[in-house]
Amino acid sequence: MPSSSAGKVLVIEDEAAIRDLLRLHLGLASFEVKETGDGRTGLTMGRGEQFDVIILDVMLPGLDGVTVCRALRAEGESRDSAILMVTARDRESDKVLGLESGADDYVAKPFGVRELMARVQALLRRNRRMTTATTTTLRIHTRDLSIDLEKRVVRVRDQELDLTKQEFDLLSLMAARPGIVFSRAALLQQVWRDDAYVTERTVDTVISRLRRKIEADPQDPELILTAWGVGYKFADAD
Ligand code: CA
Repeated sequence: MPSSSAGKVLVIEDEAAIRDLLRLHLGLASFEVKETGDGRTGLTMGRGEQFDVIILDVMLPGLDGVTVCRALRAEGESRDSAILMVTARDRESDKVLGLESGADDYVAKPFGVRELMARVQALLRRNRRMTTATTTTLRIHTRDLSIDLEKRVVRVRDQELDLTKQEFDLLSLMAARPGIVFSRAALLQQVWRDDAYVTERTVDTVISRLRRKIEADPQDPELILTAWGVGYKFADAD
C-alpha cells in the first residue's frame, strides 16, 4: 500500500461498468481499491480486512447487500467501517432498509461520480471526527450546542438544559454522527431498546420537545433536521 493512500475502499457491486468507473475515480483520488461482484465474496473480504469505506450494492448475486451489511456489522475487521449503500431505485423503503441494516449513508442509482466521491470523503471525515471524539474528549461541540457525554450535560448558548433521559440519548446519538439520517425505527431501537409500549410517534414527540429546548426557532430548526419520509438527522458541522 503506497504511503500516500487516502484510505482503503471495498467495492461490492455486480455491474462491471460501475465497478470500472468507481475503480478509476477512487484510484485517481489515491484510494486503495479492492472489488468483487459477489455478495458472499464481499462479506468474506470485509470480514478479513479492515476497510475505511465499503461501497455496497443492494441487489447482488450470492448474498444481497442488506444481509451483507448486517453481517459486516456483526463481526469481523470491518465492523466499524463506513458503509455506503447503493440502492437500485430512489425508494424510501430501500433507504430505510439500508440505514437500518447498519449502513451510514446511501446513494440511489443512477448516481453521478462526483456525488459519490463527495459522500465517500464525507464518511471518511465523519469517521475520523468520531474516533477523536470518543477516544479523547467525550464532548461534542457544534454551533451553539455543547454536549458533555460523561457528565450528561447539554448547554445551548451557555445555558444548561434540563433534558430527560430519552431527550439526552436521542440528541447525543444524532449529534455524534452529523449528517447521517436516522429512521424512526432505528432511533426507537437505539434509544428505547425496542420498548414494546413505544411507537414511532413517540420519536416525533421527543424530537419536537428537543427542538423547543435547543433550537433558536423550533419552527425553523437548524440543528435537528427532518429527512422527509425517512426520519431525522443532525445538521452537518460545516
Ligand atoms: Ca446490482
